[in-house]
Amino acid sequence: MGISLRSAADIATMKRAGHVVAMCHARVEAAIAPGVSTQELDDIVRETISEYGASSNFLGHHGFTGNICASINEEIVHGIPGPRRLQDGDIVAVDIGAIVDGFHGDSAWTYAVGDVSEVHRRLLTDTEASLYAGLEQATAGNRLGDIGHAIEVYATDRGYGIVQEYGGHGIGREMWEEPHIPNHGQPGTGRRLKKGMTLAIEPMLTLGGEETRVLADEWTVVTADGSWSAHFEHTVAITDREPLILTQRVTSVVD
Ligand code: MG
Ligand code: MG
Repeated sequence: MGISLRSAADIATMKRAGHVVAMCHARVEAAIAPGVSTQELDDIVRETISEYGASSNFLGHHGFTGNICASINEEIVHGIPGPRRLQDGDIVAVDIGAIVDGFHGDSAWTYAVGDVSEVHRRLLTDTEASLYAGLEQATAGNRLGDIGHAIEVYATDRGYGIVQEYGGHGIGREMWEEPHIPNHGQPGTGRRLKKGMTLAIEPMLTLGGEETRVLADEWTVVTADGSWSAHFEHTVAITDREPLILTQRVTSVVD
C-alpha cells in the first residue's frame, strides 16, 4: 500500500492539530501531582480540545471511553483514565490525539509524579532521548529501518527493553496509517522516506523485558514482568533535512 504524501497546506493543518495536542500536554504537565486522578487529566484534555474546536481521536475509538490514554508505571500504553490517583514516585505516560479539519496529531509523553527515583527518572530522560535519536534518522532518502535501528541502539546500549508489539505509524487523515514503524530494525532496510510523509515515532522502553500482556479491561497494556515503562511520541513531517515536529512542545499553558 502506498504511503500518502502531504501537501504544504495539509502539513500546516496537521501542525494546528499538533499544536492542540501540545497545549493539552502543557496543561496536563502543569496539573500532574500526587493525588490527582487520571480522570482529572482527561477532563483537562477534553476541555482544551473543545476550546480549540478540535476533537479527540481516542474517544469512542473501538469504544474507548477516554480522551487520553494514561498508563502508570508498569502500564505501557492504552491505560483508561479513571478514579485512580497518582502517587508520589509514579511515572505516568499520557498519550493525546486531536483532530483539526480532518487531520490528526498524536503525541505521548511520560511524566514524573512528585519525587521519582533516580532509575525511573533516567528511564524518562533516556526514552525521550531515544525518540530524538530516531528522529535524527527521519529524513528524506533514509529508510524506516534507519529510524528503528537508531532507537534500538540507543536503548540497548543503556540496557533497556524495547516493546516490540507496538510502535509508530503513518498518520494524517487517519490516526493509524501505513506504515508500521518498529522501534528496532536494520539500517538501510524498509520503506524509503520521502518528503511529505507524516509519521508518528514512538519508542516504548522498559526497565526489564519486552514481553507485554493486556489487562482484563481489554485495553491496558502492561509489561509481562512488571517492570516500569516509558513512552515518548511526536508526530513529524519528513523533509529533506531534519523532520518538522508537528507536535512540538510548548512551555506556556495559554496562547
Ligand atoms: Mg499516541
Ligand atoms: Mg501513535
